[in-house]
Amino acid sequence: MKWAAISTWKMSFDGCKKTLELLAEGRKCDESLIEGVCMVEDEPSYTSVGYGGLPDKDGRVTLDGGFMDGDTLRFGAVGCIEGFRSPIRIAHSLMNYEFNNLLVGAGAEKYAEEKGFEKRDNLTEKSYQKYLSEKDKIETLTSYDGHDTVCFLGKDVSGTICAAVSTSGLYMKAHGRIGDSPIPGAGYYADSEIGSAASTGVGEDVIKTNATFRLVNKMAQGLSVQKAADETLNEIMKRLADCRSISLIALDKDGNYGVATNCDFPFVYGSDECEVSLYMARFVNGKTVIKKVDDISEVTLD
Ligand code: ASP
Repeated sequence: MKWAAISTWKMSFDGCKKTLELLAEGRKCDESLIEGVCMVEDEPSYTSVGYGGLPDKDGRVTLDGGFMDGDTLRFGAVGCIEGFRSPIRIAHSLMNYEFNNLLVGAGAEKYAEEKGFEKRDNLTEKSYQKYLSEKDKIETLTSYDGHDTVCFLGKDVSGTICAAVSTSGLYMKAHGRIGDSPIPGAGYYADSEIGSAASTGVGEDVIKTNATFRLVNKMAQGLSVQKAADETLNEIMKRLADCRSISLIALDKDGNYGVATNCDFPFVYGSDECEVSLYMARFVNGKTVIKKVDDISEVTLD
């Protein structure tokens, strides 16, 4: 395939379509993915990313994001950043430095302010009202209900592969918590000589198992992208007795995709050979079963 992109959850549909249009125009992988992710960050009805994201226990929306360039293995990432419009743009810019590529909290905010990144209070009235009505139930919430990361993987015409991820992380997380999304090898990984992977689900489980590096490494050892995704998830579920929900997307260096999940998981894929479409991945009898969705309004999951 000349170009291809895959992204997580139904919320990424319009963004992925945009990414594929840009890739078709010959635009570079990094800018094409960032445009797509930003569309999701800016949409307040998507409640687990960017504007209108899920608040933490203190009622604050703090965001995580990561970007990796598969040609150079450079990465940039931010964790627990508050008050800025686009964590993915800030993460991407941090890739340009030799050191200090992953910044968190006040340090990330200082950097973003100095570099002139656009500010935004991401706590919308809707996300604040949800917080107010549920904050007294924190003990009964698993704290893992209602969280998702938007992850984009792409390949451009020159063969560059990149990964981009953005999230508000777990709902009612402790203030200061970062998940897997800023951590390369956990939330995302890209190597243009092999392929790329990204994850959505309970970040602590993904970090424990270096899920995306593990998956890409399996492709390096010769496994197909789908087999690498399946084996990675199987290993994680075997090793972690209490493994919670995890979904993995992957793209090989030729633009083929693989997906593995232990829950119901919509994702989007398209390429120069195949129109952008929504797919539903389900965990059935210990295996991921993938089906194309003909009518996307039927899928209620974000
Ligand atoms: N992985 C994210 C986190 O743990 C949440 C998610 O993707 O659902 O912060």
